[in-house]
Amino acid sequence: MALSTAMGWREGLDSGALSAEILVRQSLDRIQRHDGRIKAILSTHPERSLALAREADRRLRAGERTPVLGLPVVLKDNLHWKGTPTTCASRLLDGYQAPYDATVVARLLAAGAIPIAKANMDEFAMGSSGEYSAFGATRNPWDEARVPGGSSSGPTAAVAAGYAPLALGSDTGGSVRLPASFCNVTALRPTYGVLSRYGLTAMASSLDQVGPVGISAADVGAALQVMAGRDPLDSTSVDLPRAGDLFPLRAADLKGVRIGLPIEYWGPGLETGVRGTLTAALERFQDLGAELLDISLPHTRFALDAYYLLCTSEVSSNLARFDGIRYGSRAAHRGGTAAEMIAQTRDLGFGAEVKRRILLGTFCLSKGYYEAFYQKALKARTLIARDFQAAFEQVDLLATPVSPAVAFPLDARTADPLAMYLADVFTVPTPLAGLPALSIPAGFSEGLPVGLQLIAPALADTRLLEVAHPFQQVTNHHLLSPTPFPQEPPHGL
Ligand code: GLN
Repeated sequence: MALSTAMGWREGLDSGALSAEILVRQSLDRIQRHDGRIKAILSTHPERSLALAREADRRLRAGERTPVLGLPVVLKDNLHWKGTPTTCASRLLDGYQAPYDATVVARLLAAGAIPIAKANMDEFAMGSSGEYSAFGATRNPWDEARVPGGSSSGPTAAVAAGYAPLALGSDTGGSVRLPASFCNVTALRPTYGVLSRYGLTAMASSLDQVGPVGISAADVGAALQVMAGRDPLDSTSVDLPRAGDLFPLRAADLKGVRIGLPIEYWGPGLETGVRGTLTAALERFQDLGAELLDISLPHTRFALDAYYLLCTSEVSSNLARFDGIRYGSRAAHRGGTAAEMIAQTRDLGFGAEVKRRILLGTFCLSKGYYEAFYQKALKARTLIARDFQAAFEQVDLLATPVSPAVAFPLDARTADPLAMYLADVFTVPTPLAGLPALSIPAGFSEGLPVGLQLIAPALADTRLLEVAHPFQQVTNHHLLSPTPFPQEPPHGL
């Protein structure tokens, strides 16, 4: 393990000792050297990135400063960056070029961040390990025989391997938090609506959110500040209260802050090493003045079932648009009907997990089963949301494990979809309730990273980061990087 700090990137730029162009060249060089093994990246666009870097350098020289000006950023390959491929790690989107920028990408660009790469992921964001990419599994930089977690496998592995200090993933049921926990980086799933979904390829629209990934809560806050807020192109988007307080992030005073520990998350299913590491982390919060209280969220046991019913139902509807006509690839087709062409395109284009979900979702929504499955899942969703509301009358925040176990070996769960779904047991309740949740590095178990999840009431995203910040000032877990990827501050800064 080696010590690193993302602040080196920004300090280097601010002091004029580094240029955005140097940082971008360094990032691209790092990708070239390591990514043959890690497979976090699907495409790079050096000329485009270097042109943006030179523009950022002009702005920096003119004295302009924004929270992200000149910083390289990696984008999950389900986010549109105009003129570059958006594949969602699927063969079906081979050849598709983004015709416009996603709102989050446009806002990062306007603030002077520099996209350097599109990142690997589970196909169409369905998965928990990164292994369902049609272009090969991403590996965990901490142990290349293990998964990095998914579905934002590429963005999180890219930050862990030091390709960039920031990345954007997406989180429908845990897809930035789980890989952040497995890769020792910080990631936020914001309150539903805080980040526009315009230009994020839809998986399950009532659950999808873009999630910023960085080394620290302060870095995540910087990215969130420039992206957050109402977007006329996404009618579900909302303004984030106190967004202006995200950069520079202040440390909250934790005296008297009540942190609830939901007993349903701390039961016997938790690995002993994970429990020990998280208990030690919670003691740091106590040292800082926080008070820990046991609390119950009694409907948690329905969350995984409700999530997989609602998610697959929405998937079956959203993915109907991939028909070989409007986007991406079309199966070579001679004669026959349009319906046969569509069926063949989808058969050849989609991987096994995507097909499984489309079938499950179609089944849930079909006549006679709709009431038995889909509607019941909606009712469970309401009960889960009410549990959280009741809890937040007693406590300010909740703390839970992100995952019951550390990163698992490659191939350990690919033959057993239910075992794969179980990895999400602690991350799916919050999206069902629309709440913000943060995954922060909390230490190590048997040499592998362990993440702590902090959950806040809706629209308290800023407060969530302000509470994580003092913890990160008295601990250095998040500053440790895997031995093959020492993040020595660039050029010795
Ligand atoms: N692992 C979860 C799933 O497979 C979450 C995916 C996500 O958040 N995109 O559905």
